[in-house]
Amino acid sequence: MKITNIRTKLLHTPVETALINQTKSRAYMEIVLVKVETDEGITGYGYTYTDGFGGHAIKTLIDTDICTLLIGKDPTDVRAISAFLLWELRQAGFAGVTVLGAAGIDLALWDIYSQAVGRPVCEILGKYRDRVPMYASVAGWIGLPVEEMVERARQLVADKKMLGVKIQVGRAGLETDAMRLEKLRLALGQDAKLFIDANTILDVPTAIRLGKRLQEYDVFWLEEPISLRDPQGHRIIAEQIDIPLATGENFFGIHDCDEYIRDRLVRYIQADVIRVGGITEWMRVAGYCDAQGIRVSPHFVMEVTAQVQCCVPNALFVEYIPWFQQFFEDPIRTEDGFAYARTKPGLGLKFTQSAIDRFEVQ
Ligand SMILES: [Mg+2]
Repeated sequence: MKITNIRTKLLHTPVETALINQTKSRAYMEIVLVKVETDEGITGYGYTYTDGFGGHAIKTLIDTDICTLLIGKDPTDVRAISAFLLWELRQAGFAGVTVLGAAGIDLALWDIYSQAVGRPVCEILGKYRDRVPMYASVAGWIGLPVEEMVERARQLVADKKMLGVKIQVGRAGLETDAMRLEKLRLALGQDAKLFIDANTILDVPTAIRLGKRLQEYDVFWLEEPISLRDPQGHRIIAEQIDIPLATGENFFGIHDCDEYIRDRLVRYIQADVIRVGGITEWMRVAGYCDAQGIRVSPHFVMEVTAQVQCCVPNALFVEYIPWFQQFFEDPIRTEDGFAYARTKPGLGLKFTQSAIDRFEVQ
């Protein structure tokens, strides 16, 4: 089989108002759709995304250099193509636009491989389980009024059977964060898991103070307390507080995570299956984590995360942020707090024509 063409589209999809000017400075997410065509009639669909910046550059990189590099190659050589692309594109950068572009291709190639073999992706990767429990992040945006946060959290845990909820902390003041956690604990009960996320905005002493103050609410993890450029700062924080640390949603490739995993600086690694370079790179990261006794709980991208989390021994959760579910022709199955691996061939990442018509940027 040979790749005959690669086509892309750029979409801007709106985000919730509670996020705008908080952790997101743009009112939309950027999605670059990737369609890989072959000479045997099988078409692969992937996508990549950003929080609002770089989408045009990613689209151009795929349309020009990546397309030139891949026309004529066998799309089922998925791992070889991943390594080839990430090396050939090194002068465009080892992170960001380059890796995000390569990730969109990687997903489309796994889609082709799965269809060609006629088996679901998780059966090709090798399955440990059929479903993964979810926690929800969609109650915890810092811009939500506290009553709405509690009501959303109650619905997610009581009705949708989520394990628990994650809230953003570190912006409103320590006692406000404590008050929000107390209300959640009261509303959700002792069995619900609570997660807190500082989105890298703290420094080491502030993170230690926050961790010590909030640990009475039985917090499962503190996510991205400080800049990811300060790995050893994570070690210092972890030595001082009882709440385990999680990080990794902003890693681009396995080498970004190396020091964290090798030195076990955090308890949980959250490598995003797209930002880290696609399924191929993500599986390498997960394997490295497993060798070091670290559990993985990836950021966002639940439609792909549900597949790969079924295929590693050290999987923890899927993060429930269902923003893109409505855009897929064949979204993943979620039920009673679990995300399910797909049972048909293909990755299921083809967007509906109506989503494309609504959100495509010309
Ligand atoms: Mg986060």
